[in-house]
Order: sequence, then structure tokens, then C-alpha cells
Amino acid sequence: MPASDLAAIVAELRAAESVLITTHVNPDGDAVGSALALAHFMLALGKTEITVGLEHRVPRLYQWLPGAENVVESEAIPASFDIALVIDVARRDRIGTVANHIPKSAKVIVLDHHLESAPYGDMYLVDPTYAAAGEIVTECFSVAGVPMSMDAAVCAYVAITTDTGGFRFSNTNARTHLIAARLVETGIDVATISSRCFDVMSEPKFRLLRYVMDAVQFGNGGKLAYAEVTAKAMEEAGALGEDFDGIINFIRNIEGVEVAVLFREVNLGTTKVSLRSRPGFNSAEALHNLGGGGHAAAAGATLPMQLASARERVLESVLAQLRKTE
Ligand code: AMP
Ligand code: MN
Ligand code: MN
Repeated sequence: MPASDLAAIVAELRAAESVLITTHVNPDGDAVGSALALAHFMLALGKTEITVGLEHRVPRLYQWLPGAENVVESEAIPASFDIALVIDVARRDRIGTVANHIPKSAKVIVLDHHLESAPYGDMYLVDPTYAAAGEIVTECFSVAGVPMSMDAAVCAYVAITTDTGGFRFSNTNARTHLIAARLVETGIDVATISSRCFDVMSEPKFRLLRYVMDAVQFGNGGKLAYAEVTAKAMEEAGALGEDFDGIINFIRNIEGVEVAVLFREVNLGTTKVSLRSRPGFNSAEALHNLGGGGHAAAAGATLPMQLASARERVLESVLAQLRKTE
């Protein structure tokens, strides 16, 4: 399927009557923010039949976003709609159970910024030069020539600021700031939004952070740092998957560390892994042969194996790539 430009996609959205909007499992700030910003975009186009459906609930950290209260779980997705809009992900397997609720009659449109060689969808725009999917949604407003409400701008701003770590990660470029400026011009309160995204830590997350800090181990002369969290440790901390967000950055920030790896035991046969790296090490590539992906600086995978096997397989791949970069 050839890639489409945004004007063609916006024209398709204008013609639709009903849409489902969805994003990846274990949604992060960009996933929730860009999906909700898209819902506001469809509203701005005058649509009324808009469903935002996710397999997982909206993380506590983002439940205050305008429109988050209307997000439904997979089972509540209507039986039929014209278009499924998939954002911040370009793989069918990464939208989880939502995929089972997309009828064949619906056209699938994918908007994403991950490194994905064979994107999902009948139409797609997958552009890794965007730092966040929220930037693409902001471009939709410009392309369509519709004004952006403050509610839409808040959602898009959260999407962009979280995926860029507050405009600090290597994905941040001049266009990121120009797009953010358009959002700020709507009158949104940047200080409050930033504080809600970055300066809040739940007690379970604090306990999880303390656990992970104690569990960090090093390899390859300190260039590799990794830690693992068992399901039991998660339970003791009272932590959820969403509480992992950002924790790995503390490991990556340790002086000398080129790549940080964090393992989470989801259950006895499933392990989630996250990678964060400094320039020179491609995280997405290191996880590619294990069914994962993402970006050069941040990638993830969910492995159908127990923690110890996952650790062995991932560290083997990471070490092999670290040696190549030496
Ligand atoms: P995470 O470590 O889960 O925060 O993910 C880091 C980046 O990798 C994000 O951009 C994710 O969307 C992406 N990612 C995570 N898991 C996978 C996966 N199984 N396949 C492809 N990309 C992933
Ligand atoms: Mn995401
Ligand atoms: Mn993203």
C-alpha cells in the first residue's frame, strides 16, 4: 500500500460519518494525547459519531485530559463505523484486542512516527521525522484549515511534551517547536500541563522506582545497565504497567551508560522489555529480531517467554550491537 499525504487523509476523514480512534496497548502520553486530539479534530470537522476505544484504560497520569472520560474499552466499540483511525502505532498486533472490533467494511487509516517498514492500514502516513504523533494531529488542523480549540491543543501538547521528554530528547527539532508554538498560541497553560505530566509521582510508582534503582546491574564496562522487575515485586509495590513510564530514563542517565534495559515480568510466559540509548546505539534495531521496535533512542518489545529467557535473548542482542559500535 503506498503512503498517503496528509491532505488525502484529511479529505477521507471529512467524507466519513463515523470513526473509531485507537492507539497502542499500554498507552503513553503521546498515545492518549494524540488519540484525544484526533477526537477533537473530528469534532472540529463536525462529526458526531466518534469513538475512542482502547484495550487498556487511560493511565492515571492522563485521565485529566479533555475527552479522556469518553474513552471506552474494546468491548464497547460500536459494531460498525466508516473509518478506524490508528495513531502512534503502525502495527495491527500493537493495538491489542481493539483489532478484533474493526469490521472488514471499515477503512483503516494509520498516522504514526515509528520506524516501521511495512505499516498497517488501507491508507497511512508514517513519518519518523515527527517527534510525536501529536505533531501529526496538529498538522491535520492546519491542513484542514480548522481552528484548534484549547482542549485539542492541551491533548496535542501533552502528546508532544511527553514523547520528547519536555522537548529534550534527540527527536526534538525546529518543527517540533514550531508546532508547539501553534499550540501555545491557543492560550493553553504550559506550566500547569508540564507539572501534571512530569512533577507527579504516585506512591506505587515511587516504590517501584526505589526497587528498580536497587536492582540495576551493569555490563560491558558500564556501557550497559539493566534491571528486572518480577510480577511479585510489582504487586508488592502496588504498581501497574503505566507506572514504568519514565523509570528507565533514570538508568539511562547514569554516567557512562550507552544503553539501558528494563525487564518487566508480565506473567510466567510474557516479558515486557524497554530500551533507551544514547546516540550511536539503535534501540529499535536491537529489538527488531525479537519482534520489537520503536525508535533509535527508545524501543520496546513484548516477548512470549519467561523473564530469564527474555533477559538472555535481549542482552545477547544488545551486547552484540554494543560491540559493533565500539
Ligand atoms: P516503551 O519502552 O514501552 O516505552 O516503548 C518505547 C518505544 O518503543 C515506544 O515508541 C513504543 O511505541 C515502542 N514499542 C514498545 N513496544 C513495542 C513493540 N512490541 N513493538 C514495536 N514497538 C514497540
Ligand atoms: Mn506511544
Ligand atoms: Mn509516539
